[in-house]
Amino acid sequence: MPPQNPAHERLAAILRDHGIQPSAHRLAVAAYVLHTDDHPGADRVLEKAREALPLVARATIYNTLGLFVAKGLLREVIVEGRVVYDPNVAPHHHLIDDATGRIHDVPWEAVRVEAPAGYELAGIAAVLHGTAKKGNSTC
Ligand SMILES: [Zn+2]
Repeated sequence: MPPQNPAHERLAAILRDHGIQPSAHRLAVAAYVLHTDDHPGADRVLEKAREALPLVARATIYNTLGLFVAKGLLREVIVEGRVVYDPNVAPHHHLIDDATGRIHDVPWEAVRVEAPAGYELAGIAAVLHGTAKKGNSTC
Protein backbone atom coordinates (compact mmCIF):
# COMPACT_ATOMS: atom_id res chain seq x y z
CA MET A 1 0.00 0.00 0.00
CA PRO A 2 1.66 3.24 -1.09
CA PRO A 3 1.70 5.65 1.86
CA GLN A 4 1.22 8.75 -0.35
CA ASN A 5 -2.02 7.60 -2.02
CA PRO A 6 -4.67 10.19 -1.02
CA ALA A 7 -7.59 7.81 -1.72
CA HIS A 8 -6.06 5.21 0.59
CA GLU A 9 -5.39 7.87 3.21
CA ARG A 10 -9.05 8.95 3.13
CA LEU A 11 -10.22 5.34 3.45
CA ALA A 12 -7.75 4.71 6.27
CA ALA A 13 -9.13 7.76 8.09
CA ILE A 14 -12.71 6.49 7.69
CA LEU A 15 -11.70 3.09 9.10
CA ARG A 16 -9.85 4.67 12.04
CA ASP A 17 -12.88 6.92 12.75
CA HIS A 18 -14.91 3.73 13.18
CA GLY A 19 -12.32 2.10 15.46
CA ILE A 20 -10.95 -0.17 12.73
CA GLN A 21 -7.19 -0.53 12.28
CA PRO A 22 -6.53 -0.15 8.53
CA SER A 23 -4.76 -3.11 6.93
CA ALA A 24 -4.18 -3.97 3.29
CA HIS A 25 -7.18 -6.31 3.07
CA ARG A 26 -9.49 -3.97 5.01
CA LEU A 27 -8.53 -1.12 2.66
CA ALA A 28 -9.11 -3.33 -0.38
CA VAL A 29 -12.59 -4.24 0.87
CA ALA A 30 -13.38 -0.64 1.88
CA ALA A 31 -12.23 0.76 -1.49
CA TYR A 32 -14.98 -1.18 -3.21
CA VAL A 33 -17.76 -1.71 -0.73
CA LEU A 34 -17.91 1.82 0.72
CA HIS A 35 -18.16 3.40 -2.73
CA THR A 36 -20.61 1.21 -4.56
CA ASP A 37 -24.35 1.28 -4.89
CA ASP A 38 -24.30 -2.28 -6.25
CA HIS A 39 -25.47 -3.90 -2.98
CA PRO A 40 -22.88 -6.67 -3.48
CA GLY A 41 -22.89 -10.08 -1.86
CA ALA A 42 -19.77 -11.38 -0.12
CA ASP A 43 -18.62 -13.29 -3.20
CA ARG A 44 -18.68 -10.11 -5.28
CA VAL A 45 -16.70 -8.28 -2.57
CA LEU A 46 -14.18 -11.15 -2.62
CA GLU A 47 -13.83 -10.84 -6.42
CA LYS A 48 -13.21 -7.11 -6.18
CA ALA A 49 -10.78 -7.43 -3.24
CA ARG A 50 -8.81 -10.06 -5.19
CA GLU A 51 -8.24 -7.52 -7.98
CA ALA A 52 -5.99 -5.71 -5.49
CA LEU A 53 -4.94 -8.69 -3.34
CA PRO A 54 -5.09 -11.89 -5.42
CA LEU A 55 -4.29 -14.21 -2.52
CA VAL A 56 -6.71 -12.85 0.06
CA ALA A 57 -8.69 -15.63 1.74
CA ARG A 58 -12.48 -15.89 1.61
CA ALA A 59 -12.63 -16.07 5.43
CA THR A 60 -10.67 -12.83 5.66
CA ILE A 61 -13.23 -11.07 3.48
CA TYR A 62 -16.16 -12.48 5.46
CA ASN A 63 -14.50 -11.43 8.73
CA THR A 64 -13.80 -7.96 7.35
CA LEU A 65 -17.42 -7.52 6.23
CA GLY A 66 -18.59 -8.68 9.66
CA LEU A 67 -16.29 -6.17 11.33
CA PHE A 68 -17.48 -3.32 9.09
CA VAL A 69 -21.10 -4.20 9.93
CA ALA A 70 -20.35 -4.42 13.67
CA LYS A 71 -18.68 -1.00 13.56
CA GLY A 72 -21.57 0.63 11.70
CA LEU A 73 -19.73 1.23 8.41
CA LEU A 74 -21.97 -1.12 6.45
CA ARG A 75 -25.39 -2.62 6.76
CA GLU A 76 -25.99 -6.29 6.10
CA VAL A 77 -29.33 -6.53 4.34
CA ILE A 78 -31.27 -9.61 3.33
CA VAL A 79 -33.14 -8.85 0.12
CA GLU A 80 -35.32 -11.76 -0.98
CA GLY A 81 -32.99 -14.33 0.56
CA ARG A 82 -29.79 -12.71 -0.73
CA VAL A 83 -27.37 -11.33 1.87
CA VAL A 84 -25.93 -8.09 0.52
CA TYR A 85 -23.81 -5.26 1.91
CA ASP A 86 -24.92 -1.66 1.82
CA PRO A 87 -22.76 1.38 2.65
CA ASN A 88 -25.94 3.46 2.94
CA VAL A 89 -26.60 2.94 6.65
CA ALA A 90 -29.42 5.51 6.78
CA PRO A 91 -32.96 4.10 6.80
CA HIS A 92 -34.14 3.35 3.28
CA HIS A 93 -35.97 0.73 1.26
CA HIS A 94 -34.91 -1.26 -1.77
CA LEU A 95 -36.28 -1.77 -5.23
CA ILE A 96 -35.28 -4.80 -7.26
CA ASP A 97 -35.16 -4.21 -10.99
CA ASP A 98 -36.86 -7.32 -12.31
CA ALA A 99 -35.12 -6.96 -15.68
CA THR A 100 -31.54 -6.70 -14.39
CA GLY A 101 -31.67 -7.99 -10.81
CA ARG A 102 -30.02 -4.78 -9.60
CA ILE A 103 -31.01 -3.47 -6.20
CA HIS A 104 -31.67 0.27 -6.00
CA ASP A 105 -32.13 2.46 -2.94
CA VAL A 106 -35.56 4.00 -2.35
CA PRO A 107 -35.87 6.95 0.05
CA TRP A 108 -37.45 6.09 3.39
CA GLU A 109 -40.22 8.67 2.89
CA ALA A 110 -41.25 7.12 -0.45
CA VAL A 111 -42.98 4.21 1.26
CA ARG A 112 -45.87 4.90 3.59
CA VAL A 113 -47.65 2.10 5.36
CA GLU A 114 -50.59 2.27 7.73
CA ALA A 115 -50.42 -0.04 10.70
CA PRO A 116 -53.18 -2.64 10.68
CA ALA A 117 -55.95 -1.90 13.18
CA GLY A 118 -54.84 -2.81 16.68
CA TYR A 119 -51.10 -2.63 15.91
CA GLU A 120 -48.33 -0.10 16.28
CA LEU A 121 -45.60 -0.37 13.66
CA ALA A 122 -42.13 -1.03 15.04
CA GLY A 123 -40.50 -1.13 11.61
CA ILE A 124 -40.98 -1.66 7.91
CA ALA A 125 -38.91 -3.80 5.58
CA ALA A 126 -40.21 -3.03 2.11
CA VAL A 127 -38.78 -4.54 -1.06
CA LEU A 128 -40.23 -3.00 -4.18
CA HIS A 129 -40.13 -4.59 -7.61
CA GLY A 130 -40.12 -2.86 -10.95
CA THR A 131 -38.35 -2.24 -14.20
CA ALA A 132 -36.81 0.94 -15.57
CA LYS A 133 -39.08 3.03 -17.76
CA LYS A 134 -37.96 3.37 -21.36
CA GLY A 135 -35.53 6.26 -21.71
CA ASN A 136 -34.36 6.12 -18.10
CA SER A 137 -30.61 6.25 -18.49
CA THR A 138 -29.79 6.24 -14.76
CA CYS A 139 -30.35 2.48 -14.46
ZN1 LIG B 1 -29.50 0.19 0.01
